[in-house]
Amino acid sequence: MFVGHLALAFAAKPRTEAMSLGWLVAAVTTLDLLWPALLIAGVEHVSIHPGATAFTPLVFTSYPWSHSLLTAIGWGLALAALARACGVPRSACAWLAALVVSHWILAWITHAPDMPLWPAATSPRLGLGLWNSIPATIVVEGLLWIAGVTVYLRHRRATSWIGPVALWSFVAVSTLLWITGPWSPPPPTERALGWFALIGWIVLPWAALADRHYVPKDAR
Ligand SMILES: [Zn+2]
Repeated sequence: MFVGHLALAFAAKPRTEAMSLGWLVAAVTTLDLLWPALLIAGVEHVSIHPGATAFTPLVFTSYPWSHSLLTAIGWGLALAALARACGVPRSACAWLAALVVSHWILAWITHAPDMPLWPAATSPRLGLGLWNSIPATIVVEGLLWIAGVTVYLRHRRATSWIGPVALWSFVAVSTLLWITGPWSPPPPTERALGWFALIGWIVLPWAALADRHYVPKDAR
C-alpha cells in the first residue's frame, strides 16, 4: 500500500491542527522511509519475482526491523518523542505514534503473509493479500486516498497559489507512481531499489510545503 498510507495522514490533519502535514506524512511512511536504508545496509532483504503478487513483484523476504508490529510501536514512540522535542503538542504526538502503527495494519491487509509480529525468525508472518488482485487494490486503496484528500480539503482553504500547486502535484505524482506500479519494469536489484526508494523522503518537505499554504476554513 502506498497512497492508502498517505490518505490517513491527510484525514488526520483536521484533528491535529497544531501539527504540519509533514509530520503526519512522516508518521504514516516511517516504516517505508527506514526500509531503503536497511536494504542498502544489507540488514533487510527483498527479492524481485515478477508475478509474486498481481500488484507488485517484490517479495519481502526479511524486514523485521522496519516492518514488524513490535518495532513499529517502537518507531511510533520514537517519532512521537522526536516531535515532542521539536515542540509539537503532546496530544498531537500521540496521533503520530498511532499513525506509525497504522502503517503495519494497512500493510497487513495488503501484503502476502510476510508481516512479522516481532523481529525474530520465530515470529508468525501475517498478511491478507489484497495485492493478489489489481482491481481490488485499486478500488480499496483508491477510495481511501480519495476520502483522505477530501477530508483534508473540506476543512481547509488555500492562502496562496503555492498551496494548491504543491498539494495537487503531490497527489498527482503519488497517484501515478502507485497506479502504474503493476505495469512498470521491476527494479534490477535489491540495492538499486533501496537507492531509488530513498527518493521517498521527498514526501516530507513536499507535504509540509503544501500544508503551510493552507489554513482551517474558519480561520480569518
Ligand atoms: Zn511499508
